[in-house]
Amino acid sequence: MGDVFQFMKLSRNPGDKVEVAVRKIEFKEIYTPLHAVDAGDQAGRCLSCGNPYCEWECPVHNYIPNWLKLVKEGKLFEAAEMSHKTNSLPEICGRVCPQDRLCEGACTLEQGGFGAVTIGSIEKFITDEAYKAGWRPDMSKVVWSSKKVAVIGAGPAGLACADVLVRNGVRPVVFDRYEEIGGLLTFGIPEFKLEKAVVKRRREIMEGMGVEFRLNTEIGRDIQIEELLSQYDAVFMGMGAYKYMKGGFEGESLPGVLEALPFLINNVRQCLDTLPAGEVPVSMEGKRVVVLGGGDTAMDCNRTSIRQGAKKVICAYRRDEANMPGSKREVNNAREEGVEFLWNRQPMGIEQAADGSLRLKLAETRLGAPDAKGRRNAEIVPGSEEVIECDHVIIAFGFQAEAADWFERQGIATAANGRTLASSHGEIKYQTSNPKIFAGGDQVRGADLVVRAVFEGRQAAEGMLSYLHVW
Ligand code: FAD
Ligand code: SF4
Repeated sequence: MGDVFQFMKLSRNPGDKVEVAVRKIEFKEIYTPLHAVDAGDQAGRCLSCGNPYCEWECPVHNYIPNWLKLVKEGKLFEAAEMSHKTNSLPEICGRVCPQDRLCEGACTLEQGGFGAVTIGSIEKFITDEAYKAGWRPDMSKVVWSSKKVAVIGAGPAGLACADVLVRNGVRPVVFDRYEEIGGLLTFGIPEFKLEKAVVKRRREIMEGMGVEFRLNTEIGRDIQIEELLSQYDAVFMGMGAYKYMKGGFEGESLPGVLEALPFLINNVRQCLDTLPAGEVPVSMEGKRVVVLGGGDTAMDCNRTSIRQGAKKVICAYRRDEANMPGSKREVNNAREEGVEFLWNRQPMGIEQAADGSLRLKLAETRLGAPDAKGRRNAEIVPGSEEVIECDHVIIAFGFQAEAADWFERQGIATAANGRTLASSHGEIKYQTSNPKIFAGGDQVRGADLVVRAVFEGRQAAEGMLSYLHVW
């Protein structure tokens, strides 16, 4: 038995951050990896609570105290096997989950004022280090089935679905319209949160397990859904949520006003040197930038603009800091890197000056009564308008799911807001109104988190295995 008072002797250490002056000019992860000794010591701070709240708050219900104990004992391969029992992308969730709102926020030590166990950093450490030491998923006991499943979308939901299927003997074929796997992990989240080499390594692991990827292939364009349905016993859709949400104010289409995701993807492609011929590299070098929004996408636009050399970056959000949807950790990182925040500001319109620069009109807001989801509405304070002069406005108001044109033909029902209807209850989970087609992730939930997409992809795979009578 270890020292149960380690949490009092050793303070929380999630790993060092690269110093601001360096990280502001490079597209690399900002947290340095934990050393093995530190990971073991930090894992040793866990109290092994009888009823671990961290597990309940973790959307995939990771066996957190169990793998922390294995790390403390130096049993890295066992920890890797255990962490993959509940999570298909543990090293990725360890990097991008908003732990302060999930596992670490619920840690008993955090509640007691001692600082949470560094669950995210250790989860990342386990797979990173185990992989380096030669660990690969143990597939030795898999009994292969003749069932065939197609997965549409190689984002977190599709990857998680494929992971559970292949571990249960069904070799999936994963289709994606992009040239690389990952969905928003590759073509969305910037390298300073998640280096693309990590996603590439996951591809290697999955191909080694027997997952086949067919990339640069869009279902509905290159292959019709009817063809998939005739060739496969079941189909999973993890196609994400990509309908861009507009603000509905004047000037949104002016030159110089950019949509968040194309801006971020353009930057990723510049970093990877894969910008298609004819696509102009976008740069904020020397520019005054205003980012509108308060979620993870907005933070990524802020920090990408900083790294591209923007002269000034302001982030304006219509609620206050306490009510913003993004991760607190990422807001702090953005602030450290020089982003200025204007809370309680609502955009009213954008005009273009004769010299091409933009004049963004903002009004102050105050928080009114909570809406149906319990979030307090932002109400405009009369007479509070101000104008900010800038060169670019980046709009990051989020995304909605939407139905593809084949949904109606295939009898796939959607909600009024475009989300695909797929039930999380019953034995056959995440089945759509077409029994042969399953769905999960942002397409079903609306734009959300990587870890929730992973959970739904895994659950849908279990539903498919029941449907196909594989277990
Ligand atoms: P996606 O990741 O969107 O993947 C869907 C895939 O389906 C894509 O690869 C797409 O090309 C493919 N596809 C779609 N239609 C077709 C078709 N017809 N044929 C073939 N392929 C198709 N979450 C966090 O937890 N932490 C963060 O820090 C975070 N930061 C974010 C930053 C940004 C900029 C954005 C936009 C989102 C962020 N998120 C974050 C949210 C997270 O990325 C998503 O919730 C998650 O990726 C959803 O996974 P998914 O598999 O459902 O969809
Ligand atoms: Fe925490 Fe996310 Fe890992 Fe769950 S998956 S333990 S919420 S970092």
